[in-house]
Amino acid sequence: MPILVMKFGGTSVATLDRIRRAAKRVGVEVAKGYDVIVIVSAMSGETNKLVGFVEETSPLFDAREYDAVVSSGENVTAGLMALTLQEMDVPARSWQGWQVPLKTTSAHSAARIVEIPNENILQKFGEGMKVAVVAGFQGISAEGRITTLGRGGSDTTAVAFAAAFGAERCDIYTDVDGVYTTDPRICEKARKLDKIAFEEMLELASLGAKVLQTRSVELAMRYKVRLRVLSSFEEPSDEAGTLVCDEEEIMELNVVSGVAYSRDEAKMTLVSVADRPGIASAIFSPLSEAGIQVDMIVQNISEDGRTDMTFSCPTNQVARAEQALNEAKDAGGINFHELIADTGVAKVSVVGIGMRSHTGVAAKMFEVLAREGVNIKVITTSEIKISVLIDRKYMELAVQALHDAFELEKAA
Ligand code: ADP
Ligand code: ASP
Ligand code: MG
Repeated sequence: MPILVMKFGGTSVATLDRIRRAAKRVGVEVAKGYDVIVIVSAMSGETNKLVGFVEETSPLFDAREYDAVVSSGENVTAGLMALTLQEMDVPARSWQGWQVPLKTTSAHSAARIVEIPNENILQKFGEGMKVAVVAGFQGISAEGRITTLGRGGSDTTAVAFAAAFGAERCDIYTDVDGVYTTDPRICEKARKLDKIAFEEMLELASLGAKVLQTRSVELAMRYKVRLRVLSSFEEPSDEAGTLVCDEEEIMELNVVSGVAYSRDEAKMTLVSVADRPGIASAIFSPLSEAGIQVDMIVQNISEDGRTDMTFSCPTNQVARAEQALNEAKDAGGINFHELIADTGVAKVSVVGIGMRSHTGVAAKMFEVLAREGVNIKVITTSEIKISVLIDRKYMELAVQALHDAFELEKAA
């Protein structure tokens, strides 16, 4: 039997009614002759609630216990989805990550998938089971502890299963009907794309477009998984949604194809550090050991042998970053006068494969922001993207102005 992977995000399983609706859709694919692996997220809002419990209990929490708590939301929906399918006479059972077992690294709260043995589930399919419902987002480490794959990680669970089982396709059901030129919730002119290249999707995801978790796109690209994003609220059709595919499958490439934003960024500046060989390493090694996701980095021109070092990281990691840097300072590894955290910034980025061969995108971006009176605090670029850090209060304005200026509402 051909295998299909269907993933339902939080909004798509937010109530028993929606679980029933999703289960019906699974039933349609079973009737077509597929064995289906369903990956479920926690009911919408549940994971945030659980994260809140952990942070309130222990601000600098033990990540192993964080995972034990936040992985539980998916267990509920997996069981409920299996029960709903059984009520519809579809042979189904649920699997928690450790039961598969979905093996991961021990990087708690940001674990990577190492292996998904497929024997257990294939054996059940062989015995007549039609649907394996798997709790997304979670796995088990070599130490036998429960791990999670980072926020939005059920997307990655889904793509990894599609790769491990050679699925015909991986359908990601969510609350929008595909991938748009930017988040349709903050820009009403956003346009749905029929297709998007893996590389562009990868950049958009890593720059904040949370419609797909970055790692899921990486895996799909590497294992050539046919990945489709579509709405669980609209009637399905073969052309529905957005196909994430190789660049070669897309006829017209835009210079800029999307605008992404990341709201919860913080800018941290170490004021007056000694400018000597090894200083960057002395700052960023302890941050890396503390698991801080450092993104942009700028070092100022030095004066009298001292310089300022600025970096950005997610706002919820500021306390941990401060702790790591202050400990390094106390241990004599680094010496700075002051550590300033600005938690009121956001990152806005434009992405497009066409930037490889077109110049002038950065100039146009800066001009648009200048016209809107938006001050740029940090800039980074790569071959197919330009990102700026700006005051959060201008974020939506910047996204809309850039969407207009690059005429993204029009098809190529
Ligand atoms: P799920 O719970 O199904 O995983 P998410 O909330 O993680 O859903 O992702 C879907 C959301 O991603 C949409 O509701 C939308 O607000 C947001 N989003 C951000 N950028 C984009 C984009 N470029 N295209 C589509 N959706 C986007
Ligand atoms: N429930 C997890 C989260 O909210 C994983 C997911 O939904 O993909 O991040
Ligand atoms: Mg998601």
